[in-house]
Amino acid sequence: MTVPTALALGAAAAAANLAGAFAVTRSARFGLRFIETLVAFSAGFMLALALVGAVPAALATHPFEGATVILLGYLLVHLSQHTLTPHFHFGEETHAVSHQASSAALIGLLLHTFFDGVAIASGFQVDVALGVLFFVAIFLHKLPEGVTISSLVLASGDSPRRAVLSAGLLGAATIVGAILTTQLAFLIEYGLALSAGVTLYVGASNLVPEFQGKRTWRLPLAFFAGAGAFVGLRALLGGLLA
Ligand SMILES: [Zn+2]
Ligand SMILES: [Zn+2]
Repeated sequence: MTVPTALALGAAAAAANLAGAFAVTRSARFGLRFIETLVAFSAGFMLALALVGAVPAALATHPFEGATVILLGYLLVHLSQHTLTPHFHFGEETHAVSHQASSAALIGLLLHTFFDGVAIASGFQVDVALGVLFFVAIFLHKLPEGVTISSLVLASGDSPRRAVLSAGLLGAATIVGAILTTQLAFLIEYGLALSAGVTLYVGASNLVPEFQGKRTWRLPLAFFAGAGAFVGLRALLGGLLA
């Protein structure tokens, strides 16, 4: 992938971070309900992408160390988002949090969104179909990601301007991740395996816990539909690109 393509795809994904932030700062209630459904749908899509798309592709190029790097990707997100962070969960923040918690969450999420960019570029290195599937998965969960960071920043007592700025920073990290994956030997080699672990974490451990306790048919339905949509889109792309 060329640098301009990586820049364009990274920027398109980053725009969804900002859209999520605007939904919060302009307190669009309807928008937030839609985003809750989107969290469940993206969870299914990302879980399927990680297990059915990314893991086999990563192991095909690195049968031995690939699995270890996948595990490393998974653990890295837990370290940055939940071990070094006093308070973090996906979805809208509805209670007051400390400044320290919101800053730590922003730093933790920056690593995650950097890998969002790595994932898009790594997917395209394998083939166009996997690249498109990664792009869709990243794009879908970037709206809730923007909601997450901007509501956290607001809940810590900061201004709406800072909330949108923080979402912009997350988007910028994605652009940097996509560009570096076209340049750095380590990311060219292991970016896909790392992304597989990160995608598994985001789908199964960030997004699923956000709705698994809610008693409504709407969210599990969206979750299963997300996994089904991955399988459908993959078949469609396979047919189109064959
Ligand atoms: Zn909270
Ligand atoms: Zn993300």
